[in-house]
Amino acid sequence: MLDQSLKSAIRTTSPHLRRLRELGIHTVRDFFLYFPRTYTDAREIRRISQLIPGEINTTQGQIKNLFGRKTRSGKFFIRAMLFDETAALEVIWFNQPHLMRILKKGDWIMVSGKLKLSQRRFTMISPRLEPVRDEQIHVARIVPVYPETELRVKISSKWIREKLFPLLPFAEYFEEFLPEDILKQENLIPYSEAVRKIHFPETEEDIEKARMRLAFDELFLLQLGALKRKYFWQRISEKDKKQIPQNLDLIKKFVQKLPFELTNGQKKALTEILNDCEKPYPMSRLLEGDVGSGKTIVAAIAVRSVVKAGFQACLMAPTEILAKQHYHTFIKFLQPEGLNIQFIAGSTPPKQKENIILQMKTGRVDIVIGTHALIQEKIGFYKLGLAVIDEQHRFGVKQREKLKSFGSPHLLSLSATPIPRTLALTIYGDQDLSIIDEMPKGRQVIITHMVPEQKRIDAYRWVEDQVRKGRQVYIICPLIEEGESELSVKAATEEFHRLQTEVFKNLKLGLLHGRLKQKEKDKTYDAFAKNEIQILVSTSVVEVGIDVPNATIIIIEGTERFGLAQLHQFRGRVGRGSHQSYCFLFPSDRKQSDPVALYPSKSVGEANTYQQSLERLKAVCQHSSGFKLAEIDLQLRGPGEVYGIRQSGLPDLKMASLTDYEMMKKARHFAEMIIRNDPELKTLPKLREKIEELENISVDY
Ligand code: ADP
Ligand code: MG
Repeated sequence: MLDQSLKSAIRTTSPHLRRLRELGIHTVRDFFLYFPRTYTDAREIRRISQLIPGEINTTQGQIKNLFGRKTRSGKFFIRAMLFDETAALEVIWFNQPHLMRILKKGDWIMVSGKLKLSQRRFTMISPRLEPVRDEQIHVARIVPVYPETELRVKISSKWIREKLFPLLPFAEYFEEFLPEDILKQENLIPYSEAVRKIHFPETEEDIEKARMRLAFDELFLLQLGALKRKYFWQRISEKDKKQIPQNLDLIKKFVQKLPFELTNGQKKALTEILNDCEKPYPMSRLLEGDVGSGKTIVAAIAVRSVVKAGFQACLMAPTEILAKQHYHTFIKFLQPEGLNIQFIAGSTPPKQKENIILQMKTGRVDIVIGTHALIQEKIGFYKLGLAVIDEQHRFGVKQREKLKSFGSPHLLSLSATPIPRTLALTIYGDQDLSIIDEMPKGRQVIITHMVPEQKRIDAYRWVEDQVRKGRQVYIICPLIEEGESELSVKAATEEFHRLQTEVFKNLKLGLLHGRLKQKEKDKTYDAFAKNEIQILVSTSVVEVGIDVPNATIIIIEGTERFGLAQLHQFRGRVGRGSHQSYCFLFPSDRKQSDPVALYPSKSVGEANTYQQSLERLKAVCQHSSGFKLAEIDLQLRGPGEVYGIRQSGLPDLKMASLTDYEMMKKARHFAEMIIRNDPELKTLPKLREKIEELENISVDY
């Protein structure tokens, strides 16, 4: 029933169906699971004589007078007079000529809208309207309001209500999947009831109960799925067991030779990692730390320890530039110890690649660093003890499974996305968590300013002056579409030319974007690292992890489209050397009330006007801690938008608030209990089905 295509269940046009498909709605089930964003309470029906000016009123009356015509300015205009036993009400609609086909003299209708008093007459302008029927859908009830999507994909709330209402009896087919005792203990209503009530609640309590149930589901399933993955990650064959001992003396000696002292956060994380590696099942640990907190060296020390114990290690990064950089870091710190360190990526010539793979398989190479190329088909390891993944959110479940196939190594993921602990446990619940919560001593605060359009030229001149003093600059171009789109690349290319020919004529500029060939990227990046290029213009996609200490200024264009956490990531490109660093935010030049679609989310929320975005951005100027900014961002926008769906591999949470730590903890408690007793969910087939369903739709890239 629920899997029936929507096309066969409702009468509608193909453009509507196409729009629904764009929203991911294909079946009756999907339609039900498209939840309202909010509700308006239009329950109280007032007599016309009792209507209250200035308020939203709902009333009913009989149509006595009715006419519609075009005004001189070409707009269509309908005026009707409604009567009940108490008084008369004037109702006006603009630009809805189709209403002339619906409205008929003598009919009773219900209207809901704001009452205005003008020229001593009560008028409702463009109220919601519905014929009086047994059960009202649009008025005289708590009315669901659905998310407004991008303008191009306009499906109105009214339309959804109209089409969904007749399907309501089908809600019964939503089968219960939560175990009885959880329902009881948490006082949750049945699934089918929740699905029905979330759309057409009768009372506020209905909304509350439905939300509670659906929110719990999301948090619970998320964590159950994660714990299940962890269970399978750690369930390995006897021969794959690797208890890798740590040689504390060797580690201490090495750490003493470093050009800096490790922070306490780094030491603690390192201990946790090395202890995990000693265990008889594979580690699954996420190392979280702000940009520049020094995760790489922690990973390097762990890698060294594992290699010294006779195992191989690998490090995988999402881009070739990043991987190269790590390669250089590892060479710098570990090659003096006589370790064999190799690099492998898409651009590695086939012959060389073959040779490295041979070394990997025979155990001659100790450490391999690279991109996805590291886990491609022909690859194998002789004795892989530890795999490190940098910027872990860029990798999916598939890649992890591939890693597991190399003899179930210990896994360490690195992430610079600062997520509060409880939240991280929820969304990355398949990993244990180490947090580096302090920065190395003596790190400078990056001076951050928002620059209004009229100050742009001044800012450019100041930047030029800094370059003459020897500094270097990043300019991040605005994001036009998600991903490395044609449009974004074009915009960056144009900006590069404009800057080179008009603004910084006497300086050397470089351009970096994702559509360039790897060779070209490397060349540009190398030239920037050597200060042969002074200003690097780039799209927002190639940003991650670049480390050029002499670059001290970053300009971010179209700032309002980025999330706080992401701006903070950009900002982390500078402040890496001894010179004072600066971050300039250049918002686009536009009207205060313009809606702003935030990266990486797709929806244009009502709350996101340009003006509000600018308010939000002030936080970036005020705070230098990524954790602080993440928290603010979470409160302002919610996790779905902050971390993005594709970015984090998060399922789309619609009901749950990932700031509701209480519920998260409860859900985790139950999930843990279930996994402890029945990790494969053999006794809970419905729940198992539900989890598998989610696993199938979770994004992989
Ligand atoms: P991230 O955590 O963002 O990956 P990196 O590992 O790239 O940061 O470290 C940033 C810089 O800080 C590197 O140049 C690294 O050598 C340096 N660094 C790491 N740990 C310390 C420390 N304890 N004290 C001083 N500098 C450090
Ligand atoms: Mg890093």
